[in-house]
Amino acid sequence: MFRRVIRIVLSVVMLATASVALSVSTAGTAQADGCYTWSGTLEEGDRGEAVRQLQIRLAGYPGYDSTLAIDGVFGPHTESALRRFQDAYNLSVDGVAGSETFNKLYALQDNDCTPIHFSYAELNTCNSTWSGGAVSASTAKANALVTMWKLEALRHALGDDPITISSGFRSYSCNSAAGGASTSRHLYGDAADMTGTHSLCTLVRQARYHGFREILGPGYPGHSDHAHVAHDPSKYWSASSCF
Ligand code: ZN
Repeated sequence: MFRRVIRIVLSVVMLATASVALSVSTAGTAQADGCYTWSGTLEEGDRGEAVRQLQIRLAGYPGYDSTLAIDGVFGPHTESALRRFQDAYNLSVDGVAGSETFNKLYALQDNDCTPIHFSYAELNTCNSTWSGGAVSASTAKANALVTMWKLEALRHALGDDPITISSGFRSYSCNSAAGGASTSRHLYGDAADMTGTHSLCTLVRQARYHGFREILGPGYPGHSDHAHVAHDPSKYWSASSCF
């Protein structure tokens, strides 16, 4: 009887070991580091492109009513954002970016550096060149990338339920056709109009934790059927029916 229990325990342990080995190998195939690969570790005091690439992906973890500077300098705000990211994905929360953090980021992104649940095509249904807006095409596209990582953080915080983007980057002509304001952040590439499984008020409330500086929703004129998030440094939120 006792030996039998030991044998069962042993076989359970072996099964668990086998499934760990299996999940490690399949995680390997899902990784996408086609656009950027980190080496070593990053921690407070580090600087450079490796830090900047990390900050783009942590842009959605600045904490409540805050934003993370994407300046290539790993300071205390970057460390706090990294800790929030590690916590959100049940990694070891140590504020140091090493292989565990990088492997999670590879698993969360496609080979063009966009997060797995959002794409450049989804953030730009206006034209394929990203030109004709208020900033250069490369700036508009770079802004959209940061916005997508913020959206990925928002989506994860709301239980990984789908978020649908109905409008992102707009050239001046696309913006006029959509009836957008003449100073719309859609002209800069950092705005996204969204709907989702959750209510619009849930989306705009949660967005306050993920680095957005312009959040418009129900109660703000023209925003009864979608939530708008963007990055206008001078604005915060307006959705009088929600707050
Ligand atoms: Zn909008």
